[in-house]
Amino acid sequence: MALLEVQSVKKMFSSNGTAFYALKGVDLSIEPGDFVAVTGESGSGKSTLLSIIGGIAPPSEGSVVVDAIPIYTLPIEKLADFRREYIGFVFQQFHLMPYLTAIENVMLPFAIKRMNDREQRRLATEALEKVGLGQKVDRLPSQMSGGEQQRVAIARAIVNKPPILLADEPTGNLDTKTGNEIFSLFRDLNSAGQTVIIVTHNQEIASRTNQVIRMKDGLIESQQDQRTGRNE
Ligand code: ADP
Repeated sequence: MALLEVQSVKKMFSSNGTAFYALKGVDLSIEPGDFVAVTGESGSGKSTLLSIIGGIAPPSEGSVVVDAIPIYTLPIEKLADFRREYIGFVFQQFHLMPYLTAIENVMLPFAIKRMNDREQRRLATEALEKVGLGQKVDRLPSQMSGGEQQRVAIARAIVNKPPILLADEPTGNLDTKTGNEIFSLFRDLNSAGQTVIIVTHNQEIASRTNQVIRMKDGLIESQQDQRTGRNE
């Protein structure tokens, strides 16, 4: 059984009374431990697909099944629980709280959990150590480089140990060297078993994942397994 199944997903937006399909019928299957890049030109539907996978935006048609749960049949509170338990999200803009330190930012996902402060700090420190920031837990975002801020955002995304880590252009705001370092971090997390899906228009980065899904005009144009070279 796949960890994630996207089945016949369409997404319609309407503007000025005209319907527009950002996704026109997408099928996708992701296994646990996969490391997937979603590529394609701007406007091809990558971010829309990621939001739908992440439980943020319901599809207009079709379904998304994660761990055998058809997530968009869940009542809204349960869908929020699903997101917290299953999904870590990393964005191009790091979206850190500027007045909170690194460790406080990483502890944010615990805000509604009944867990004592000591345990929260222990788990947040562990996540920050995983991303190489064990020595900078008390820094504010303004006291860190862009790459370090993205590391904090990644620590925040993985602190709950979600089965699926989603990243939307996570290197888009970083210079090439720092972007490569951040990409290597995703690869290390994947090597340790984390399922990772990265949206990127950077071909160089996409070519270093295990599977490349190329989107065009709201459809999957090709899907290539990088290890076998097999096209699907
Ligand atoms: P990509 O991530 O590949 O750049 P997107 O998924 O962001 O593409 O967008 C796909 C298409 O859907 C684009 O034409 C975009 O303008 C449109 N779109 C995305 N979000 C919305 C929205 N909330 N309302 C209307 N159109 C949207």
